[in-house]
Amino acid sequence: MTYRAPIADLRFLLEHVVDFGKLRSTELFSDVGEEVTDAILTEAGKLCEEVIAPVNRPGDKTPSTLENGRVRSAPGYAEAYRAIAEGGWVCVSAPADYGGMGLPVTLQTAINDMMSSACLSLQLNPLLTQGQIEALAAHASDEIKALYLPKLISGEWSGTMNLTEPVAGSDVGALTSKAEPNGDGTYAVTGQKIYITWGDADFVDNVCHLVLARLPDGKPGTKGISLFMVPRNLPDADGAPGVANSLKVVSLEHKLGIHGSPTCVMEFDGATGWLIGEEHGGMAAMFTMMNNARLGVGCQGIGIAEAATQKALAYALERKQGKVGGTGAIIEHADVRRMVTTMKAETFAVRAIALANAVAIDMGEATGEEDWKARAALLTPISKAHGTDIGHEMAQLGIQVHGGMGFIEETGAAQFARDVRVTQIYEGTNGIQAMDLVARKMMDGGAAAYALLDEVEAAAEAARETLPDLARPIFNAAENFREATEWLVEQEMEDRFAGCVAYLRAFARVLGAHYHLLAAMAEGGSGPRTGLARFFIKRILPEHEALIAQVREGAVGLYDLSVEDLQAV
Ligand SMILES: Cc1cc2nc3c(=O)[nH]c(=O)nc-3n(C[C@H](O)[C@H](O)[C@H](O)COP(=O)(O)OP(=O)(O)OC[C@H]3O[C@@H](n4cnc5c(N)ncnc54)[C@H](O)[C@@H]3O)c2cc1C
Repeated sequence: MTYRAPIADLRFLLEHVVDFGKLRSTELFSDVGEEVTDAILTEAGKLCEEVIAPVNRPGDKTPSTLENGRVRSAPGYAEAYRAIAEGGWVCVSAPADYGGMGLPVTLQTAINDMMSSACLSLQLNPLLTQGQIEALAAHASDEIKALYLPKLISGEWSGTMNLTEPVAGSDVGALTSKAEPNGDGTYAVTGQKIYITWGDADFVDNVCHLVLARLPDGKPGTKGISLFMVPRNLPDADGAPGVANSLKVVSLEHKLGIHGSPTCVMEFDGATGWLIGEEHGGMAAMFTMMNNARLGVGCQGIGIAEAATQKALAYALERKQGKVGGTGAIIEHADVRRMVTTMKAETFAVRAIALANAVAIDMGEATGEEDWKARAALLTPISKAHGTDIGHEMAQLGIQVHGGMGFIEETGAAQFARDVRVTQIYEGTNGIQAMDLVARKMMDGGAAAYALLDEVEAAAEAARETLPDLARPIFNAAENFREATEWLVEQEMEDRFAGCVAYLRAFARVLGAHYHLLAAMAEGGSGPRTGLARFFIKRILPEHEALIAQVREGAVGLYDLSVEDLQAV
């Protein structure tokens, strides 16, 4: 079974569920009409199906290697990457002033979803470049922008993100890498970074590392960190890659999955770097990159959920076991039907959340309105954490649908499960995302959350006459969740954090049901989308009640078992 880009689904979601058309009423995106959207989705889909998906298995079986300090990429990756770069697909949302297409992040999000289904390991390369483009566009000097952006946008050079160190994982502020001024406007960057994705690549002319390090007068913690551009090869007077910088890939990690993506231990030994943004303002600059990457990583989960669903459905239609009517295949068994329909319903819901997130980013950019920016910020941790949780869960269900064949590598179902697992960990673990949701994203007292719940309830009200069995549970769930939010924002941080993962998932349940309802309404209240909505609302939405009960427990009893008790019981 080969991957088929879900163009019809994406088109339907954009036009009927997440109100992508609203962007066309803004000056910035007035020319992104239906024809442009269709052409972009169709062409990107074709590239994913025909060029990128075929390198997914070879990259899993023959991982990238390190030879004489340089990464040799997996078979077929170089050719597939060249097709991505030559087609202009590295970053379609990059600014037009530097050679980009200036398209909405929403279209980038749809493309990232498809590319992740096709080959997660390779897609990580352009994903990181996208984040770097955004960070440079927002924070770099004009000279750096003029030198680096066109090369990154065209895909001649690629970008990486260097935060993590052995002592600094989730706690980025603990990092020990140093930067000393060279006296000529450049800096000497020294330190070791671990887990650096695509720390080198043999299919680009230069690799541009964005590195977090501390200046001599940098305070301890995140407030004393600065951001530097440290290229593998120093650009010469013409901007071409020149002499090698003082940095190297020390080794590659052996991993559970994404074998095609080289995860590098990097050593910077007085490497020449250029400051990006303000001195000691590195975290603010890096956050631009991380926010972009968080939505992108959420899409990796969605892409894997889609690919796993396609494979499971194809197998369920083919495999015969037991006497059943209809097709005579296992899809007729109640439990297999439950699993496959769950995969469809969950993938639709989480894709809608990510696209709504992207529309909010674009509306914030196009209108400058704070409400849109607040919505984008609120939805980002949900897209990242729930997108990747669902990716993991659907990949596991996909294995189950295959029975024993799911555990055998040839089917590819197991690769999805191995590849997607890390998406719940990198770019800020899903626990850290949930903490962000209940702390920083609730500093408005819940205002952005309430504004979203108002829309959920208004849609449920509008559907009360025509689709009462769907509208009523959603309205009640939104009310329930609103009350939980009112309770949450009154609590101490420890109580919020204790229930934050449950809170994030409950929020995603309510939003998923809402987007399913909008799809059912757009279909006129009967048909397959309405059936899928009913499945989600009746069988998946009720989970929110148990989740809210966990949220309301706060930290009560969480520490009742001492560390000694945990070792004793
Ligand atoms: C394959 C791969 C690729 C990666 N690519 C990159 C990259 O390109 N660039 C880069 O800089 N990094 C990269 N990373 C690093 C990644 O972002 C980190 O692994 C991640 O941020 C978690 O840090 P850690 O591994 O040190 O885990 P830890 O921080 O040690 O976390 C361990 C556990 O403790 C929890 N925890 C930690 N602190 C808290 C807290 N304050 N409150 C509650 N729970 C907490 C975590 O949620 C987690 O469950 C990559 C990692 C992997 C595995």
